[in-house]
Amino acid sequence: MSPDHAAAYLAEIAYLLRHKGDAYRARAFTRVAGMLLRDRPDLDALARTGQLERLEGVGAGIARTLTELVREERSDYLDRLRQEVSPELATVEPVLEISPLVEMGYRGDIHCHTDWSDGGATVLEMGRAAQARGYEYLAITDHSPRITVVNGLGPERLAAQRRLIDQANSELSGLTILQGVEVDINEDGSLDEPDEALAALDVVIASPHVKLRMEPAAMTERMLRAVEHPHVDVIGHPTGRRPGSRQGASYDFEAVFRSAAEHGVVLEIDCDPARMDLSPELARTAASLGCRLSLDSDAHAPDQLIYVDLGVWTARRAGIASDQLVNWLTLSGLREVFD
Ligand SMILES: [Zn+2]
Ligand SMILES: [Zn+2]
Repeated sequence: MSPDHAAAYLAEIAYLLRHKGDAYRARAFTRVAGMLLRDRPDLDALARTGQLERLEGVGAGIARTLTELVREERSDYLDRLRQEVSPELATVEPVLEISPLVEMGYRGDIHCHTDWSDGGATVLEMGRAAQARGYEYLAITDHSPRITVVNGLGPERLAAQRRLIDQANSELSGLTILQGVEVDINEDGSLDEPDEALAALDVVIASPHVKLRMEPAAMTERMLRAVEHPHVDVIGHPTGRRPGSRQGASYDFEAVFRSAAEHGVVLEIDCDPARMDLSPELARTAASLGCRLSLDSDAHAPDQLIYVDLGVWTARRAGIASDQLVNWLTLSGLREVFD
């Protein structure tokens, strides 16, 4: 079994544990999944010789689960957690292959941050990391100004960042950096950036960050207004939830997803393990209503680009096919969708 494959299973276990409120054990599984992606050990050989516990962070419990996964591609523990936490997905037939991501056809990530807002790396560093992963494109989507703690970008800084991205693109080969923004959806559904600034960008992600617990009817209006905005391409982490700790917004999901399908707006599966938003259940609803989805890392540092590897299982469990995921599009196909 490939490390990517095993990491996807462990990430799913971590997610299910987080839901049950076992954040401690969830973190242990996430850490091991990250280690597998980084160190790429020969799992078959280690399982055969009973040496999985020699891997960093792997105790007896995780070793037992990993052994089962490597030998049988399933585990009692995972089956039990699935049954407990999301029985409605138990009968869904997976369509997607499991990782390795790029071999599956994943071409690029369209949501990440740099040191222009609250990220920890430069545009070029993020670009090089995406290039090393074999991506064709990476969209840099730093924050808009409203939430001042993240040092968001207004029109002037966006224009300056564009010049820097053009420069970075001239230094990279094989990878194109797109310029986007992750713009806040204000309480009334308007956006935290003037239209002219949004029009100049390659991709506009509109995300709810504050006042998530609005009353559902008002929240539905707010989300509908964002979806209908002519410059919005993607709705980022559409509920704002944090499994195990923050419930996130509740609104008329079907109405908003229907409108997104109608307006060609993509709904994101934000693969940050602390978010996983949309959930596999809601992603399944969105896909069934004709929405396109995206699988993004929302990385704030180069090593967080692996979040997509840790989140790809959701699309699989939700029965979503690659032609419903924009990250499988070529760069020109993606530009057409975001036009
Ligand atoms: Zn966000
Ligand atoms: Zn973000």
